[in-house]
Amino acid sequence: MSPRPAVPPLGLLAGRSAIVTGGGRGIGPAIARLLAEAEAGVVVAARTYSEIEQVAWDLRARGARVQSLYCDVTDEGSVRAMAENARKHLGTIDILVNNAGVSASSPLARITIGEWNRVLAVNATGTFLCTREFAPAMVAQKWGRVINIASVAGLEGARYVSHYAAAKHAVIGFTRSIALELAGTGVTVNAVCPGYVDTPMTEHTIANIQERTQMPREQALAAMLATTGQERLITPEVVAKAVLDLCREEMDDVNGEMILLGAEGDGR
Ligand code: NDP
Repeated sequence: MSPRPAVPPLGLLAGRSAIVTGGGRGIGPAIARLLAEAEAGVVVAARTYSEIEQVAWDLRARGARVQSLYCDVTDEGSVRAMAENARKHLGTIDILVNNAGVSASSPLARITIGEWNRVLAVNATGTFLCTREFAPAMVAQKWGRVINIASVAGLEGARYVSHYAAAKHAVIGFTRSIALELAGTGVTVNAVCPGYVDTPMTEHTIANIQERTQMPREQALAAMLATTGQERLITPEVVAKAVLDLCREEMDDVNGEMILLGAEGDGR
């Protein structure tokens, strides 16, 4: 049997345009890279200029059509300004990947109102604001993809992450509801739900566990992975592949689905 190609067939998304929020580090750049390799025009959006500019520069050096745009997804005006700029660069946006997110871990009694609001704002409100901004034009053109990066924490509870789990449950409830609302319009709305992925966010989580428990890194990593039944961290490329798959024309009827990655039964 011939090996599977490492890159998608050229032209899979030729003529399409995509926004990837949280495109500066971790999972976002991997998604942007795969969509760009499939020949979509891509906007990478986040708050840290140096990171999004570096991602855009790297991808442009490989021949991709990529633009970096500042966006704080929690701020309605910032989302609107980013969307206006994105349309100037790419025209109507076909694919929205709501990837921007923050995680946190604290026992209930130590979660401040500020921390609760921050986690809900980035993960849940950000997903709402960006979807509200981009989905109507997708409906008007009768084709679109909204792909929300949720988490296994959006499907089940876990200790010490009640704010994060509540925010990701909100993302999933939002995904299912908007999928129903837009059913039949040509726009699909789905969520990808990974277990722990190898990113700066996860490094931060491991460091927190180490700080709390004084465990060496490998032990802290193993303890963390045990909570989701994973054997190893998922690579950002696996998440990106799930996103690309949802963009295929053959996936036109896949709507309101949760794509679970790398949790219990991890056989990769
Ligand atoms: P990272 O922390 O590594 O990167 C997060 C990205 O989101 C950064 O580019 C960051 O840029 C951006 N971001 C954060 N806040 C905002 C904001 N207010 N406005 C715009 N962009 C923002 O996270 P990951 O790559 O690990 O995570 C990506 C997504 O995947 C998140 O939604 C996360 O919850 C989800 N996920 C992650 C898992 C993991 O194990 N890592 C597992 C399951 C889901 P900046 O700070 O510059 O704005």
